[in-house]
Amino acid sequence: MDQETIFLRIIRREIPAEIEYEDDEIIAIKDINPQAPVHILIIPKKHIRTLNDLSEEDIPLIGKMTLVAKQLAEQKGIADSGYRLVWNCNRDAGQTVFHIHLHLLGGRVFSWPPG
Ligand code: AMP
Repeated sequence: MDQETIFLRIIRREIPAEIEYEDDEIIAIKDINPQAPVHILIIPKKHIRTLNDLSEEDIPLIGKMTLVAKQLAEQKGIADSGYRLVWNCNRDAGQTVFHIHLHLLGGRVFSWPPG
């Protein structure tokens, strides 16, 4: 059985979120603890625990999530200035919600390499 996550509860409208985009497969919400002026989470409605659980059938979904991130970057006016897309996987990357999500971060300068 799927492990319950905060994102599944948001998808089911059991808890509120600021929704930036939604379709049959994807929801995008404002991060509750933003790390940049623009910080949006692009989340598949299908529960996939970590990137390690991806399979070939998820390739179109992952592609679509990237396209949604690009479109949201354009809408938020950060496409030209630049933005960062981040996937955190498991402990060392700091994953805290075990339902994959793509972070769209922008509106400030980011360092590289990351800390
Ligand atoms: P990660 O560390 O990659 O697992 O990121 C999880 C993200 O979810 C963090 O940036 C949190 O601030 C964010 N988050 C957790 N709960 C909520 C919520 N209820 N609404 C919006 N964002 C959330």
